[in-house]
Amino acid sequence: MVEDETLLARQIETALLDARYAVDCAADGERADFLGRTERYDAIVLDLGLPKIDGLTLLRRWRDAGLFVPVLVLTARGSWHEKVQGIDGGADDYVSKPFRMEELLARLRALIRRASGQVTAELRCGDLILDSRSAKVTVAGMPVKLTGHEFRVLSYLMHHRGRVVSQAELTEHIYAQNFDRDSNTVEVFIARLRRKLGASLIETVRGLGYRIEAGQ
Ligand code: CA
Repeated sequence: MVEDETLLARQIETALLDARYAVDCAADGERADFLGRTERYDAIVLDLGLPKIDGLTLLRRWRDAGLFVPVLVLTARGSWHEKVQGIDGGADDYVSKPFRMEELLARLRALIRRASGQVTAELRCGDLILDSRSAKVTVAGMPVKLTGHEFRVLSYLMHHRGRVVSQAELTEHIYAQNFDRDSNTVEVFIARLRRKLGASLIETVRGLGYRIEAGQ
């Protein structure tokens, strides 16, 4: 999440954390450029008016460098030319300031969904339902309590159903950049998810990673 206005940045970060995303924040273009090139993100929220490197330059650089992460740009109030430039510069969607946090979250969910080929906000696997709007999981209608890390592992596997996801890839997508990654390993989260959701949901593909079957 790239935003230089401290208050707005904090509000967005809080909303993203409440929605159970792992979040890295940058308050200027240089830091954003560094993070964007070194970390693998499911999506980037990018303000266009930034110190050091402006958002549009950043976006064009990333696209020129072959970085295809979904980008949601934040545009200034009433600035139609920023929207046009943003989209032309490679943004996938935009939200104009001021905006409702619900709208930003909905557009972000849609971007992440589309990037992984999913069309609905409710991801289903048998009687398990993961609702990306509420960040909640139910099995046969009964709510299941998951920690943030457990939820992100399940969500990532559900978004990429049918594909084998390596431990390294999961690790890259479930932690924020500054998190101590050694203390909570992916294997531990998988074991806990199996205990909570049934042993058969997540398949171990030996030497390659984990998979949730595409199924019905
Ligand atoms: Ca700004």
